[in-house]
Amino acid sequence: MTKYKLEYVWLDGYTPTPNLRGKTQIKEFANFPKLEELPLWGFDGSSTLQAEGRSSDCVLKPVAVYPDATRTNGALVMCEVMMPDGKTPHASNKRATILDDPGAWFGFEQEYFFYKDGRPLGFPTEGYPAPQGPYYTGVGYKNVGSIAREIVEKHLDFCLAAGINHEGINAEVAKGQWEFQIFGKGSRTAADQMWMARYIMMRLCESYGVDIEWHCKPLGDTDWNGSGMHCNFSTEYMRSVGGKDYFEAMMKAFEKNLMDHIAVYGPDNDKRLTGKHETAPWNKFSYGVADRGASIRVPHSFVNNGYKGYLEDRRPNSMGDPYAIASQILKTISEVPTAKKSAAA
Ligand code: ADP
Ligand code: MN
Ligand code: MN
Ligand code: MN
Repeated sequence: MTKYKLEYVWLDGYTPTPNLRGKTQIKEFANFPKLEELPLWGFDGSSTLQAEGRSSDCVLKPVAVYPDATRTNGALVMCEVMMPDGKTPHASNKRATILDDPGAWFGFEQEYFFYKDGRPLGFPTEGYPAPQGPYYTGVGYKNVGSIAREIVEKHLDFCLAAGINHEGINAEVAKGQWEFQIFGKGSRTAADQMWMARYIMMRLCESYGVDIEWHCKPLGDTDWNGSGMHCNFSTEYMRSVGGKDYFEAMMKAFEKNLMDHIAVYGPDNDKRLTGKHETAPWNKFSYGVADRGASIRVPHSFVNNGYKGYLEDRRPNSMGDPYAIASQILKTISEVPTAKKSAAA
């Protein structure tokens, strides 16, 4: 038997966006633990806005487990928060009730800022660095500094070791701003991986004296870009049948549900989706081929393949909850009749 260090990770009760929390317990297993071998565990919900002090116990229910390369015999355990009965989802537990579909694929592009001493990493004590231009996909100390690349490379390795589908990295448009991409099949699988990738990043940054600023517009109304979390998505039907009519019906549904999408696409998104800096205004739905100024970008490949493949919703922001984002996209898609459904109707 081996003693495993199990880091149970969950989302707290803060709104509009929950924070990640985690605590460790040691358990013995013959091999790396399978999900079904991991026990329920408890925590003090009164310290996480999830319970009153008088009756403070909440339950952690493991829903995904990943190897933790930062620890000897470590595991990262993604959890849902349950009521004391262990069966009823807690009100803060969005994951329990979202729409899921294993045939739906999601690719999230997580943008974020590294922050140190209250400003983006690499910003001078007073004022601003040279304007945006050379930083996006940039190289060299004057563009990316000396710490960021080390962090993003380590993060990449820890994610891959965990079995998280990390798909890539790039330095972003603003100084101190970066992106990583996570791909997953099914809304829960993809979003679990994104939350765990966020956790791994925040924990890794501790030893550098660096924080992650997830806010979508940390530098306010300036010429510095905000942070998004573009959501690339495709269902089985979009990939295998698709077609122009179906696509146009889908875009009508997205337009009709504009406000439902914006409601879950992350806080303060009106400050980011202004129509500037490669964004579309938050209150007007648009789409366009290869158009990075549209709400939804239609890749060239989609049109060339007979309106089949994936689309990119550019509106979700860096602080958005990937569970809620993926679920809302599936909800809107479910309202669009497919050839089979309309023939049967
Ligand atoms: P860009 O920066 O040009 O918008 P990225 O390369 O950063 O694009 O991200 C594209 C994302 O699209 C990747 O995360 C990838 O996993 C995802 N993706 C690719 N094909 C599909 C698909 N069929 N369904 C859903 N997502 C996809
Ligand atoms: Mn990208
Ligand atoms: Mn980007
Ligand atoms: Mn993108």
